[in-house]
This record gives sequence, structure tokens and C-alpha cells, in this order.
Amino acid sequence: MTAHDPYDPKEFYDNLVKHKLVLPGTTPGIFGRGAEFEKVLLGFNNLVSRIASDDSAELMLFPPCVDRKLIEKVGYMKSFPHLAGTVFSFCGHDAQHRDLLGRIQDGKPWADLLEMSDISLTPAVCYPVYGNLTGTLPEKGRLVDLTGWVYRHEPSPEPTRMVSFRMREFVRAADADTVIEWRNTWKERGLQLLLELGLPAKLDTASDAFFGRGGKMLAANQRDQQLKFEVLVPVISAENPTAVCSFNYHQDHFGKTFDIKAANGEVAQTACMAFGLERMTMAMFKTHGFVTAQWPESVKKLLWP
Ligand code: AMP
Ligand code: ZN
Repeated sequence: MTAHDPYDPKEFYDNLVKHKLVLPGTTPGIFGRGAEFEKVLLGFNNLVSRIASDDSAELMLFPPCVDRKLIEKVGYMKSFPHLAGTVFSFCGHDAQHRDLLGRIQDGKPWADLLEMSDISLTPAVCYPVYGNLTGTLPEKGRLVDLTGWVYRHEPSPEPTRMVSFRMREFVRAADADTVIEWRNTWKERGLQLLLELGLPAKLDTASDAFFGRGGKMLAANQRDQQLKFEVLVPVISAENPTAVCSFNYHQDHFGKTFDIKAANGEVAQTACMAFGLERMTMAMFKTHGFVTAQWPESVKKLLWP
């Protein structure tokens, strides 16, 4: 007999469903969120707002889709072609429409009846921001506050790996020293916040899932230069804890691409930090149990003051 795995992903998912936290879907990575799940997710997002309230970030809101040209411009197809979601739509006339319906009825492929549109699904909530920062930044740079849905084509039976999920994100654009200092402050703050919520969180250097053989080098470089950090919490594995929060230092990538200058005249540097809101919420249910009424008082007070 094998020992019971306290982090079994299937058991975790089944429990989320049993407690109506997750409303099961029919395709991997897509499911609904129940009322209690949303109560925790929004409670956490509001807590982040309170913690960041003195930072005077500018709020921006974007839809979960972008101009496809933006995805091309930021180099997403170079680094993550396997994760991109490009929208294809039907633009035909009556005859093609009849063909389309016939094929759907017969269960036959119909992809060739679609045309590529100018639209991509948003893979990271910060991408639409940079084009709004073009020009010379004010003395202290800029700080943007975002919440939004993203799409990543990584369907998986793991409950913590969705194809569509929400991020709460902050973007900082300024000179290098200011950006690095901001990133370091949030690194501490993010970890502290999760520890206060009772999560067994740890900070570690990380890398992105760059595509292909060249991608391995990009990932190694990202780690060597400590450009990405993650806060990890065990949710579906003790050995491979789940990233619930990320800190990315882009150096001058977006500054160059979008012609953003710091007040000192140099190309601006940027960094962003993002909480994966669904993953944060799942980490809370994993750690404190599936019934919020039974959670520690200190945690409930933080989420719902
Ligand atoms: P990234 O831009 O890859 O650093 O992602 C930002 C945050 O989004 C991560 O720290 C995770 O919490 C969350 N995240 C990333 N990928 C997924 C996914 N497939 N499903 C759910 N959350 C995710
Ligand atoms: Zn970002």
C-alpha cells in the first residue's frame, strides 16, 4: 500500500468541487468559481489595495484582449509562442456559413473557414501599459495598478494551472535604481503578506517557461541575473511548491520597445510584480481548509476587516 499523499492534486480538485468553490468545467484549465472562492479572492485583492494605498499608484484597466501587433512587438511569439492565444474569427458569407454548420454537425474540422483577426488574448496584464508610458517619465517615475484576466494556452489537469485566470499586478517605470529598490521593497512586502496570512511561503529565484532550445539559455540567463523571483506555497506538491506571486525585472526591454525615458534622460527601466489571484486563493484553501468559517480569526480579520 502506498502512503496517502497530502498534496494529491486530484483530491485537492475534488475537494474544491465538493465544497462548491470550483464549478467543474468540461475542458482542462477552464472552470467556474463559486461564491466562497470569490469572497476569498476579492478579500485578498482588497487587502493588497490597503497595503499599497500609500504608494499612490495610478489605476488602469484593460480588457482581456489586445491588439495582436502588441504581442508581436513585445516579442511574445519569440519567447512564448506555445502559450499565446490568437483570435481567429469567421468572416465568410452564406455558402461558407452553410459549410461551417454542416461540418460542425458532422464533427469535422472547421479551422480553415476562419481568418486570423487583429486580436490576441492578453497573456500578462502589464503588456497594454507600456504603450501608455511612451515619452519622458516624471521625476519619480510612474507606478501603475492593474487587475485583469489573462489567457495562457497551457491546459492541464492540475487545478493550479488554468488557461484563464486573474492577476493583480503593479508596474514600476523609472531609472534603474528606483525600479530595483521598488522591486526589492515588494519582494519583502509580498512575502510578509503571505506569511501574515498563515501561508508557508518561501521566496526563490525563478525563470519563465521560454520556448524551445534557445529558451533554455534565456531561462538560465534570467536566473543568473536574478531577473525573476517567485513566492512559492505548497498546494499540490510539497517538493514543487506553486508560484503564487512573481517579481519581474525587465531592465530596459520595454523602455526601448516603447520609447520610454526616465527623468534623467536615460532609457527607462521597468519591473512588475503580480499575484496570481486564483492560485493565492487555492493556497489559502489548501492551508486553512475548505470552510472559511473555520479559518484562524487573524486571517479572517485581514481578509474581511
Ligand atoms: P508570470 O507572469 O508567469 O510570472 O505569472 C504571474 C503569476 O500568475 C504567477 O506568480 C502565478 O501566481 C500566476 N500564474 C501563472 N501561470 C498561471 C496559470 N497557468 N494558472 C494560474 N495562475 C498562473
Ligand atoms: Zn507584468
